[in-house]
Amino acid sequence: MPTIKFTKLFINGEFVDSFSGKTFETVDPRSGEVIARVAEGDKEDVDLAVKAARHAFDNGPWPRLSGFARGRIMMKYADLIEEHKEELAALDTLDAGKLFSLGKTMDIPNVANVLRYYAGAADKIHGQVLKMSSELQGYTLQEPVGVVGHIIPWNFPSTLFFAKVAPALAAGCTMVVKPAEQTPLSALYYAYLAKQAGIPDGVINVINGYGPTAGAAISSHMDIDKVSFTGSTEVGRKVMQAAATSNLKHVSLELGGKSPLLIFDDADVDTAADLALLGILFNKGEICVASSRVYVQEGIYDEFVKKLAEKAKQWVVGDPFDPNTRQGPQVDKQQFDKILSYIEHGKREGATLLIGGKPTGEKGYYIQPTIFTDVKEDMLIAKDEIFGPVMSLMKFKTIDEAIKCANNTRYGLAAGIVTKNLDVANTVSRSIRAGIIWINCYFAFDNDCPYGGYKMSGFGRDFGLEALHKFLQVKSVVTPIYNSPW
Ligand code: NAD
Repeated sequence: MPTIKFTKLFINGEFVDSFSGKTFETVDPRSGEVIARVAEGDKEDVDLAVKAARHAFDNGPWPRLSGFARGRIMMKYADLIEEHKEELAALDTLDAGKLFSLGKTMDIPNVANVLRYYAGAADKIHGQVLKMSSELQGYTLQEPVGVVGHIIPWNFPSTLFFAKVAPALAAGCTMVVKPAEQTPLSALYYAYLAKQAGIPDGVINVINGYGPTAGAAISSHMDIDKVSFTGSTEVGRKVMQAAATSNLKHVSLELGGKSPLLIFDDADVDTAADLALLGILFNKGEICVASSRVYVQEGIYDEFVKKLAEKAKQWVVGDPFDPNTRQGPQVDKQQFDKILSYIEHGKREGATLLIGGKPTGEKGYYIQPTIFTDVKEDMLIAKDEIFGPVMSLMKFKTIDEAIKCANNTRYGLAAGIVTKNLDVANTVSRSIRAGIIWINCYFAFDNDCPYGGYKMSGFGRDFGLEALHKFLQVKSVVTPIYNSPW
C-alpha cells in the first residue's frame, strides 16, 4: 500500500493548510474505510491560488519561455511521473477503485506520454501571415489564454488531470486545478512532481474541495480567464452559468454520455460480445464513453445474447489490487446507491434482467456486471447515464432504424459500429451525431485523437492539437505597408 505523503493544498509552490483549517475524508471504496483526511479548500483558498497563478502569468517566466524550453521541462516532468508510476497507480486504486495492473501499465505511463505529446507541440505554436489589402500587412499571434481553472471528475483522476494540464502548460498558461473530492491524492502528488521538474511556483496550483464551494469559486472567479470542465451535464450547465454571470470567461465542457454500440448481422458474434462487454464493464462502467446502449440486428440477436451472458458470468469482480480482477468497486457509496436504484427502476419498468443486478462482496461498493434485455427506447435505463456496469440491450431490423435509435439521445459523446460491410460503416459513422465513432473497436484512444461532445455532451475537445488550441487565443497585428497615415 502506498504511504499518503501529500494531503494539503498546493498554492504558489508550497503545500499549505486551508484558510478555514477544515479537512475532509477520502475513502477507500474497497471497504468504505477512511484513507486520509485532506485539506478542504474554499473561496479564500481559490482566491490565493488565482493570485499566485495571475502573478506567475503576468510576471513569471512560464509564458515568456520559448516553447522549446517549456517542452524540455514538461519532458522532465513526464520522466519523473514514469519513475513514480507504481505509487501513483496505487493512489488511484486506493481512491477510485481502479485496477492497479492497468494503472501502472496504462494510465500512468500514458499520462507521461500526454505530457510528452504536448511538450513536442510547445515549440510549434505559430500564427499566420495575412494577405490583407494592398496597403496593409498583418499576421496573427497565438497567445496563451491566461489563468485557467480546471475542474475534473473522479473516474480517471490521472488521465483527466493531464488531459487538461498538459496542453495548458504547453500553451504557456498558468492554472488552478480542482480534483474531484473523491480522488484528491494523485493530483497532490502531481503538484509535488511539477515542482521537482522545475515548473515555476504559481504555474500549477491544486485546490481540493467540494463542487458547490471550491468548484463554484473557480467558475465564478473574476480573474480566471478560462474554465475547462469535465463532469456531469447538470454541473456543466452550472459552470457555464457562473462563467456567464461573472467575467464571461472562456468555457469548455466535457460532459456525460449514453453511447450506442451498433452490432450488425455480419459481425463475428464472439468478437462483438467481447467488445460489448468491454464497452460497458471497463473501469466498472464509470467512463463517459461507455457503450451503455447496445443495439443488435435481429439475425444474430439470440446467438449474441447467449454468448454475452456466458462471457459476463466469467467476468471477475474483486479487489482492484489483485491482477486477476477485471472490475473493482464503484467509487463511493453515493455512486453505488445510484446504480442500484437504476437497476431497480429497470426491473420496475419491465426490462428483463439477463444477468447480475446485485451488489457483490462482503464489504465495499462492488456491483455485479448487469445486463438488461427487452429494453424499450423510452425507459429510464435507456435514456439516463447510469455510470456503472449496467448494459441496456435492444434489437433492430434495418440500418435506418439503427441510426435513428443511436441518435435518440440528448447526448453525443461516442458510438461504436461492428460490421464487415464498408458501406454500412461509412454511412452509419457519418449519420451519428457524436464526437468519436469507433468502427470494429471500442475505447481506441490516442493522444493525437481529439474527443469530446456533440449535443448535451458538451463542446471543446480533449487530446490532440485541438486541445492545445483551447488554451490559446488569436491576436491580429496589422501595419500599413507604406508609411502612409491611417
Ligand atoms: P460532477 O459533475 O458531479 O463533478 C465533476 C467536478 O465538478 C467535481 O470536481 C465536482 O467537485 C465539481 N463540481 C460539482 N458541483 C460543482 C459546481 N456547482 N460548480 C463547480 N464545480 C462543481 O461529475 P462526477 O460525478 O464527478 O463525474 C461523472 C460525470 O463526468 C459523468 O457524467 C461523466 O460522463 C462525466 N465525464 C465526462 C468525460 C468527458 O470527457 N466527456 C470524462 C469523464 C467523466
